[in-house]
Amino acid sequence: MSFQDLGLFEAVVHGAQRMGYVEPSPIQAQAIPSVLMMRDIIGIAQTGTGKTAGFVLPMIDILAHGRRRALMPRSLILEPTRELAAQVAENFEKYGKNHDLKMALLIGGVQMGDQVKALKDGVDVLIATPGRLMDLFERGKIMLNGCSMLVIDEADRMLDMGFIPDIETICSKLPPQRQTLLFSATMPPVIKKLADKFLSNPKYIEVARPASN
Ligand code: AMP
Repeated sequence: MSFQDLGLFEAVVHGAQRMGYVEPSPIQAQAIPSVLMMRDIIGIAQTGTGKTAGFVLPMIDILAHGRRRALMPRSLILEPTRELAAQVAENFEKYGKNHDLKMALLIGGVQMGDQVKALKDGVDVLIATPGRLMDLFERGKIMLNGCSMLVIDEADRMLDMGFIPDIETICSKLPPQRQTLLFSATMPPVIKKLADKFLSNPKYIEVARPASN
């Protein structure tokens, strides 16, 4: 299977090829066509499987169709730590080089001023840790009702870090008619319950651990 077979725009395929990727990894091959068909996804996959490109590439494809609006981000990626959020942002920038998409990285330990300005100007994707996102939301700096695509990444680590109540609150602020992708290395009962509550008819994908892990 090649990246061309997944249904992505040619410009998005180029984004992956520029990174030197020859063919999609198993999680990418299974997730990308379904994300493009607007399905919800539960992806049981560890770091190292290529799961980030599995959601970033189709997200770029979908965002490239629409238009940016001030104050109302169109998509949201939740990460448990600042480091992971920064890594995903880096990926987004690399894959999306050929697209006019704006991103805001909302993480703790960074001055809020620049983040607030970016939100005012309008962003296509927010990449955030739950704590900082809730903080900005509670200050009225951000509207989530235009966010029609949500990624909950590393859900089991979110659980370890006590973020599940924040995620539930965030999910309730997003429009009910949205696409939700949830990735987790394992599926403890609390995460299963979260998925049952906030995902609709998800496609379940499970891939093996990467050999290098
Ligand atoms: P991730 O699991 O998303 O953290 O990705 C793990 C690593 O695999 C990253 O360094 C990616 O750059 C790399 N990667 C992602 N997709 C592919 C692919 N299709 N072919 C080769 N490497 C990839």
